[in-house]
Amino acid sequence: MMSDISRNLTEVLKRIDSACLRAGRQSSEVQLIAVSKTFPAEAVRDVVDAGHLHLGESRWQEAEPKIALLPGFLHWHFIGRVQRNKLRKILPCFDVIHAVDSLSMASAVNELAKELGLFPKVFLQVNVGEEASKGGFEPVALRAEMDRLFALERLEILGLMCIPPATAESELARPWFVMLRDLRDVLVRESGVPLPFLSMGMSEDFEVAIEEGATHVRVGSAIFGKRAYRMDGELG
Ligand SMILES: *Cc1c(COP(=O)(O)O)cnc(C)c1O
Repeated sequence: MMSDISRNLTEVLKRIDSACLRAGRQSSEVQLIAVSKTFPAEAVRDVVDAGHLHLGESRWQEAEPKIALLPGFLHWHFIGRVQRNKLRKILPCFDVIHAVDSLSMASAVNELAKELGLFPKVFLQVNVGEEASKGGFEPVALRAEMDRLFALERLEILGLMCIPPATAESELARPWFVMLRDLRDVLVRESGVPLPFLSMGMSEDFEVAIEEGATHVRVGSAIFGKRAYRMDGELG
């Protein structure tokens, strides 16, 4: 019997396909990341059994025991604020770090990657709404620091990531997604660097994000259900 979770997953994948169709894009250009934070390993197993292998977690303490219980062939995305004192543990276990939020964090990841013999894939988080409560580069600062970021030889910088200000409806998030894409285009033009990927869009607005060019959507509650509690310093 199909679980609620695998049914939800199928539904989200269908909605991704429709959004791609509307936007004249291929579904294969969009990677769905099933965000399993606050949900147990058994819930993750439901999406894995349904054939989905990309998972997102935002805190090392929670991710560690879960990753240990699940098959080794899964692709884990670290989507939360990076805890510097956990970086040594996080780097080897995660395929992609989505929220490198400053030049000093990027340098720390680079140094540790050197020591561990790794070449981590990262996104640079942009604080599009310039909110005090959120991490990320301010757009202007990022333009100034692009050359230094690309000089960090161990980092594979995939592109930009954002968590826009909360909005009452998905359509209101569109300008933030457009802003991230436009900023990416400016950086590519100014610095000549490749930034092919955009990590943007969550349960409430992933279709809008896809219409505006998202290549990685991070979807939690639309797959796993409503989260029972909110973690301090994290999104709900
Ligand atoms: C929790 C979280 C998500 C998923 O949120 P939903 O609204 O449940 O889809 C996506 N991105 C980040 C950074 C998160 O912390």
